[in-house]
Amino acid sequence: MHELGVTEQLLSLALRHAEAADAKRIVALNLVIGEFSSVVDESLQFYWDFMAKGTIAENAELHFERVPGLFRCSECGHEFGMDDFEGRCPNCGGSQVSVVDGVQFSLANIEIE
Ligand SMILES: [Zn+2]
Repeated sequence: MHELGVTEQLLSLALRHAEAADAKRIVALNLVIGEFSSVVDESLQFYWDFMAKGTIAENAELHFERVPGLFRCSECGHEFGMDDFEGRCPNCGGSQVSVVDGVQFSLANIEIE
């Protein structure tokens, strides 16, 4: 995922919410970010500082809630995290493994004044 496009979308979404709520300023954005989503929070903050300049979202802080990645084995149903994943299910050794959580990237809410 490219952070520039993501930041653009995030900014317009936040501004739309803030305008609808008659906000004078956006203080913070609370984001939910999965371990497997390829968004890098440091570069997101960098683009944010750059793009939000001159808007009511200038100087808003980005808060990240990290959701750990989760796999599920389709053979035995075992669920496990990134640390236990070595290309196979750590429980039965099965190779039919799918991602069940950790790919999300979303705006949970914004804090306004
Ligand atoms: Zn298994």
